[in-house]
Amino acid sequence: MSKQAVVIYGPPGSGKGTQAELLESKYSFIHFDTGKYIESLVHDPELRKNSLIKREKKLFDSGTLNTPAWVLSIVKDATIKIARAGYSIIFSGSPRTLFEALGDRSHGGLLAALINLFGRRNITILKLSVRPQTSIKRNSSRLVCSVCGLPILAASKIKNCALCGAPARKRIFDNPKLIKVRLKQYEDRTLPIIQKAKKLGLKVVQINGEPAPYKVHASVIRALKLK
Ligand SMILES: [Zn+2]
Repeated sequence: MSKQAVVIYGPPGSGKGTQAELLESKYSFIHFDTGKYIESLVHDPELRKNSLIKREKKLFDSGTLNTPAWVLSIVKDATIKIARAGYSIIFSGSPRTLFEALGDRSHGGLLAALINLFGRRNITILKLSVRPQTSIKRNSSRLVCSVCGLPILAASKIKNCALCGAPARKRIFDNPKLIKVRLKQYEDRTLPIIQKAKKLGLKVVQINGEPAPYKVHASVIRALKLK
């Protein structure tokens, strides 16, 4: 079976991270999380003296956006390694910008790199859709373990962590006003990327993100023809 590259987009609370993790644990995809990868690089003691890393660490630690061309180049390098090692890859929520997706005159974008590495037919863009009120509801009622931080299903009757048994608490930074801003940002940023991807001849599949994660997972599996 051909290796696949999947890009999964969805508003906050659509469950894109969960879907990426399900693909990783059941189908041996590598879930490439750009934010986590940047964090691991800028905090890698072995790279401490590298001047580029020094510059990016400053930006990262102050909460400023990292240099777009640098982000694009490290993501492409990592993607090449993963593809050459023979794995399928899934991105959740990235590429985040048109520049990352398409590059410019002097930088090839991530989508072109994916086409080279995996072939156009083996790339799928999944768009998880949920209604704004679902996004707001899921984000404002999101529960996490008060000790280890693991997510706890808000719909479940058991409000203790499955890993350590500690009680759940509400995530405090998810207030409805903030979520509305994030929803708008998501639309403004993602829709143009999806338009361009279609123009490049890439398959875009919209999936209803309203049902429980395992049901959404079944739709994802069908869309990717994994069964
Ligand atoms: Zn816990």
